[in-house]
Amino acid sequence: MLFSPALNELIDALRCLPGVGPKSAQRMALHILERDRDGGGRLAHSLEAVLEKVGRCSQCRMFSETEVCPLCASSNRESSRVCIVEMPADLLAIEQGAMFSGRYFVLMGRLSPLDGIGPDELGLEQLAALLQAGEVEEVILATNATVEGEATAHYIAGLAREAKVAVSRIAQGVPMGGELEFVDGGTLAHAFATRQVVQ
Ligand SMILES: [Zn+2]
Repeated sequence: MLFSPALNELIDALRCLPGVGPKSAQRMALHILERDRDGGGRLAHSLEAVLEKVGRCSQCRMFSETEVCPLCASSNRESSRVCIVEMPADLLAIEQGAMFSGRYFVLMGRLSPLDGIGPDELGLEQLAALLQAGEVEEVILATNATVEGEATAHYIAGLAREAKVAVSRIAQGVPMGGELEFVDGGTLAHAFATRQVVQ
């Protein structure tokens, strides 16, 4: 036992963060004790606050401190278009690009039967009800271009068709500024398959 039990516990707790192994957890814990006790206090306080205050928006499932998040509550957003994303970070990336003025639905995952993630875990019943309600005219599928992301998009496209709602998928292919020789074969094949008529 090189460290005190409390310090050991902190090192252990820090390892719940992604990418933090025993060495970095130890470095972080020692840093807080040696050099930044105030920062450590702020961290402890904000961790407690975020866990207590932040839940999910009842409409889009995004993290929110209110029952309905500010984005869903805003009258400036078109409720006729809904963009489906896997994770909160995807929503933030689209918002930062300021290219979309509709609403979102955050799955908080992707269909992955092997990991026990099915339609229930992703709130797809709630999504189906939203689409059936008649206010939504277009669903934009912005799930990732992975096998699970594609399967999820395919499933949701089915829900949209059942509800007679138009459905589109964000394009995937050669990145802006990208050179063909460095694009992998799968991406290039997809870019060809989803080519668009030049106006
Ligand atoms: Zn919301």
